Amino acid sequence: MTLKQKQSRLKTVVSLLLKRYPMPQAPTEEKLNLLQLVALGAVSDDPYAPAALQLIRRMEKDYVDWNEIRVTSTYELDEIFGAYHLDPRHATMLKNVLQLIFEQENRLTPDLTSDEEPETIKAYLSGYKDFPRAVQDTVLLLLDGGKDIPISETVLRFTSRIGVAAADSSVNSVQLLYRKVSAGKSSRVAHYAICCHCRELCREKPLCKKCFLVTHCDYGTKQVSGKPAKAATE
Ligand code: SF4
Repeated sequence: MTLKQKQSRLKTVVSLLLKRYPMPQAPTEEKLNLLQLVALGAVSDDPYAPAALQLIRRMEKDYVDWNEIRVTSTYELDEIFGAYHLDPRHATMLKNVLQLIFEQENRLTPDLTSDEEPETIKAYLSGYKDFPRAVQDTVLLLLDGGKDIPISETVLRFTSRIGVAAADSSVNSVQLLYRKVSAGKSSRVAHYAICCHCRELCREKPLCKKCFLVTHCDYGTKQVSGKPAKAATE
């Protein structure tokens, strides 16, 4: 498939996703502080999943503070993640980002708040060596200050299944592809729609027979009919 054909297919797919999963207005009472946003980006590839926010609230209730969560065993956190049907591998991710912040600040109360300009927050998070890129991009997107869709494992798997990126594509190349097709639309609404789709249908074990994208998806078309997906027009 040429680059133009990939862009064309992705554009079609994104526009179908936007129609199917319009983003609701965020409730004002859900405004989160910076550490909560970082945690939300770390506990799941899908920060819009109700279970992700419920998990954050549960941990804040059950533990004294984020520092206690930082030093809690991964085993204990795995069990809590399991109770919310969230991938326990993200418990390690959460501990890692808390550890990074703690090592730099010597506490888990960053001076910055989520009311700062997104550029300021971006500069702050970029200052951490090895801060996970997908978590940083998620925080910026949730603050409506990010231009790029976070390329988590889930987003990359979806993008690869529809046939417009290789499974080992670089984050930059996939983000560029999404930027090219967004046509001025907010990356946040596209990310929301992709996350909803990956939660509902394009799961680890995808439900291709029920999927409205099947004719635009290499993986799904092969699963359902054994034939290649229809070629995208330029
Ligand atoms: S057809 Fe299957 S693999 Fe393709 S987007 Fe739908 S659920 Fe995912």
